[in-house]
Amino acid sequence: MNKRDFNLAAADELRGDKSEHVSEIEPGGKRATGTKEWAEHSANVALGCIHDCRYCYARANALRFGKIKSVEEWKNEVINLDAVVKHQGKRKGVIMFPTAHDITDKTFDASMAVLFRMLGAGNKVLVVSKPKLDLIDSMVSQLKRAFHYPTDQLTFRFTIGTLYREVAEYWEPGAPSPEERVAAAELAIKAGYKVGFSMEPALDPTDALIQTAGKLARFTTDQVWIGTMNKIDLRWVKEGTDRDAKMMARVEDNLKPENMRRTYYVFHINPKVEWKDSYRRELNLPALPTPSER
Ligand code: SF4
Repeated sequence: MNKRDFNLAAADELRGDKSEHVSEIEPGGKRATGTKEWAEHSANVALGCIHDCRYCYARANALRFGKIKSVEEWKNEVINLDAVVKHQGKRKGVIMFPTAHDITDKTFDASMAVLFRMLGAGNKVLVVSKPKLDLIDSMVSQLKRAFHYPTDQLTFRFTIGTLYREVAEYWEPGAPSPEERVAAAELAIKAGYKVGFSMEPALDPTDALIQTAGKLARFTTDQVWIGTMNKIDLRWVKEGTDRDAKMMARVEDNLKPENMRRTYYVFHINPKVEWKDSYRRELNLPALPTPSER
């Protein structure tokens, strides 16, 4: 069996699955989940992602819909030229970009072309990334040349599920280190941008999760969103070593309902901390206003 075994049988079960990153309103129309918690719209310019995260929902979906034939193929990033040249009109609400790949060396130019077109049409854009420092530097410089000031049409949200390098290397083997992501955030904040963080999926046991969330909450100029790892049985690409169980044990700790409650009570009056659908469901929290109303 391939060391990077993906549970394909389970992937078939995804037919009924609604990924947390696929736009979705729960039955009854009350509670937005996934990308709908952050944005009314989504945009992407590529298929595949060099970051190769072991929990990647987008890879699972690409396999499910036959867009890739194997787990390994996901690392080949293919630019969608139709998406690059597509007209971008003004849309009501926020556009999350990207939602099913990342902004990497290979996708950067295409991403910038689409980003500029979306901003040029007057849209509000939420750029979500495991950021590479030189690319954020270049993005911020290009934005400065175009807008001459840090545009409030754009907010960054950088994913930091752990500050421990070894943990990030396991779950997100091709992505920038946590240190590099923090440096990228620092750079974007200095350039005047709103920078928030996504701690979804949270990769550490509860005590470490709380520590990291506290640090990020003091640092952010936007918000820190905390969420659990969802439906991992359907998506987990294992390494095939004893690190699999070790790393999963860290995640399972923060998934325990009593630990989710503990995390919530530490931060529930902190206006900088928000809760993803996994927490809102577990703790029966009220539905959020739409992203453009917040
Ligand atoms: S960065 Fe996002 S799209 Fe890329 S592999 Fe990780 S989860 Fe998937």
